[in-house]
Amino acid sequence: MDLAAPPSRLLPDAQRLRRHLHIAGEWTESTGGDVIAVETPSTGDLIGQVPAGTPADVDRAVAAARAAFPGWAAAAPAERSACLDRLHIALAARADDLARTIALELGAPLKLATRVQVGLPLTVLRDHVALAARPPVEETIGNSLVVREPIGVVGAITPWNYPLHQVMAKLAPALAAGCTVVLKPSELTPLTAYLLFDAVTEAGLPPGVLNLVPGTGPVVGEALAGHPDVDLVSFTGSTATGARITRLAADRIARVALELGGKSANVILPDADLATAVKVGVGNALLNSGQTCTAWTRMLVHRDRYAEALDLIATAVAGYRLGDPFDPATRLGPLVSAAQAERVRGHIDRALADGARLVAGGPDAPVPARGHFVAPTVFADVHPDSALAQEEVFGPVLAVIPFADTDEAVAIANNSRYGLAGAVWSADGDAALAVARRLRTGAVDINGAPFNPLAPFGGYKQSGLGRELGVHGLAEFCELKAIQR
Ligand code: NAD
Repeated sequence: MDLAAPPSRLLPDAQRLRRHLHIAGEWTESTGGDVIAVETPSTGDLIGQVPAGTPADVDRAVAAARAAFPGWAAAAPAERSACLDRLHIALAARADDLARTIALELGAPLKLATRVQVGLPLTVLRDHVALAARPPVEETIGNSLVVREPIGVVGAITPWNYPLHQVMAKLAPALAAGCTVVLKPSELTPLTAYLLFDAVTEAGLPPGVLNLVPGTGPVVGEALAGHPDVDLVSFTGSTATGARITRLAADRIARVALELGGKSANVILPDADLATAVKVGVGNALLNSGQTCTAWTRMLVHRDRYAEALDLIATAVAGYRLGDPFDPATRLGPLVSAAQAERVRGHIDRALADGARLVAGGPDAPVPARGHFVAPTVFADVHPDSALAQEEVFGPVLAVIPFADTDEAVAIANNSRYGLAGAVWSADGDAALAVARRLRTGAVDINGAPFNPLAPFGGYKQSGLGRELGVHGLAEFCELKAIQR
């Protein structure tokens, strides 16, 4: 493979040329000889490689997880908590390497990579050190003792957009609950997962409790989702793949937990602090170059404030500088791949053809010559039924839609096959809460309230099944047993 000559800021060879899988506590070779090349999307250069796992590798990893399960499930909560604590220490020591790796293989600006992409999963892991230490919840209902038991072997399949957080949102609660795991990270961002497993090795987790098989979705992902000895498939990714995984799990009635796509609405009521609502709303839609499942990609603005809002949006978007993730002035990196950038450009072309009014960006806006960049793009007068208002773009594209009254705003917001997140802005807290209650989504933020990593996270409708994070996320990794006496 022809790897680009490493500029000084590239990763050391040990972190970018990975040759092994991690199974039963050992770094071990794949049964196949294929490799997956990893590129940096800000230039398109190849920067590393990992093995392409095989179904036989998945068999070995699932067998290791199965063998480790009885011991890990029976371990005292304090022992599991101590393991997670050691993992947190080993991972935190790698925070700079992780941020650099994410900036390289995803293209996220280094500041975002450090604060959000690495900061959030470290918080989640620390939270689970505490959650794991608590004895499992037991209830007495009549003559029944109701106990929670770990579900068993978990197959975790994760996407590229938050390459550490999406993994941590599964591994931390799975381990805290007493489950064992086989992880297949996205083939676009596998180097981040390898750094996590360096930390797993250093933390000395019992062999087989966590296993890593990198590879493609159709080969390793399908083998894991369809494996007869996997009890729960925990998946984050697109709705189409979620449906495929559900079908693969159906024959054996395996549990599935799905975190899927979104098309979230940001409802700005007429009495809102418009300047703040627009600034935060644009920032949310463009976060991570729009590659965020909860992104508020539809901005719904009352007609009385619509013209004012469009001016504020255009000004806000002009402040987003595209460029090299390692340049401190950069606020938006590239999209993850050439294919993703092409898909996003297709959505922009379709919106123009559908008659939406271009307010910022668009196909002719300047972007860096190399890399998979798409300019931040805003359309006004987007019809609520049009493709741009209905389909997840997963790029830096915002659709602005006017509304006449609250009922219409709620109807437009709920006119979606998705139901992941949303926002409401109003000077009247009660009015905002009333709208929040009417939105058919798993989360709603009022007036830019901060993300709560202990709150249940997940979707209504085609945005998923089940919840991640906090005590509700932990419950997804447990079975309930009623003992009558
Ligand atoms: P994707 O569905 O293409 O891939 C996700 C993972 O599934 C990858 O590891 C991939 O290799 C694997 N995969 C692909 N095909 C498979 C198959 N047939 N069988 C088993 N595994 C398979 O999604 P993506 O492009 O990596 O991520 C973007 C999508 O993820 C967006 O739709 C986004 O909304 C969604 N997402 C959702 C959340 C959430 O929490 N709800 C979070 C982040 C991303």
